[in-house]
Amino acid sequence: MFKKQKNGINKGVIDNGDEIIKRYLIGVLIFGFGFVFLGCSNIDENKIVDNKVEIEKEIYIIDSENVNIEDKIKKEKDEIIVTKEKTQEEIELSYENVYWLQESLKIAGFYTVLDGLYGPDTKQQLIEFQKTFKLGDNLGIYDDKTKNKLKEIRNLKIPPSLNTNMILINKNYFLESKYIPNNLREVNVPKFKYMELKNDAALKVEEMFNDAKKEGYTLYFNSGYRSYEYQEKIFNIRVKNYGFNEAQKVIAIPGQSEHQTGLAFDVTCKSMEYGLGKEFEDTDEFKWLINNCYKYGFILRYKKDKENITGYIYEPWHYRYIGDEKIAKYIMEKDMVFEEYLNE
Ligand SMILES: [Zn+2]
Repeated sequence: MFKKQKNGINKGVIDNGDEIIKRYLIGVLIFGFGFVFLGCSNIDENKIVDNKVEIEKEIYIIDSENVNIEDKIKKEKDEIIVTKEKTQEEIELSYENVYWLQESLKIAGFYTVLDGLYGPDTKQQLIEFQKTFKLGDNLGIYDDKTKNKLKEIRNLKIPPSLNTNMILINKNYFLESKYIPNNLREVNVPKFKYMELKNDAALKVEEMFNDAKKEGYTLYFNSGYRSYEYQEKIFNIRVKNYGFNEAQKVIAIPGQSEHQTGLAFDVTCKSMEYGLGKEFEDTDEFKWLINNCYKYGFILRYKKDKENITGYIYEPWHYRYIGDEKIAKYIMEKDMVFEEYLNE
């Protein structure tokens, strides 16, 4: 029993001793966990505080690496301020920016000369544009909001693919001022000065003029490729003398002339005294042309009674290379214009 007791006591002592140690250890552990827990909550709280600070300052990335957070917040805050100011700021009125603005206004239907200078005319057109599209409070200030709207309009009005003979240019679709076709070359047919077309169209013009000649019709080349600069020059002279509305009835707004594609040309003959006019439709040369031009991939572009579709008066002298002889034949035989074919 003693032994038992001893054992018991011993055991008890040992047990008690163990208990004390256990309790001590548990105490230490609880204290430790508590410390760690408190420590953790402190860290968490710090993080939450930082997050709040960061969210308030519109910072989206929290860097867990060894970066001085305060410096980072300050740096990113500064960047945000710079970005915000920039979007409200007037775009720099450099030559390039103003040139782009003027060209875009023109494409949007607000005509201004293309000189890269922000003068009263350009400003007036900009204000009209901003009023029309309700671009708000900064009238006359060229800002990002205005630029984005102009970009949107350009995307609708400038054909995305220029690398095709089937390109449509009319009063709805523009060529950019910097567009110059590839492979322009001189056309080797009777003409009174140096004139060019794209190589494919030039080859076909030469073939067609030669074949007409063999059958007794002498065609005369009056006008081929016209650069944007040239269109701009003649259009502005017209605007000066007659005003914008009258000018645009007679001459294509720069960028809207098919002649800039290098695929269109005007043709005449001796009885027309090598000039252009409606009387051309009474000539034998014209009759030969409308019966044969499709064989070379050409169509008569501005037909009689189709002015509401093409936007141009009847021009018996203006032909357009579309390349595909079958399509050209179809268009000519059905007495269609290019727009009608493309909308079919
Ligand atoms: Zn023409």
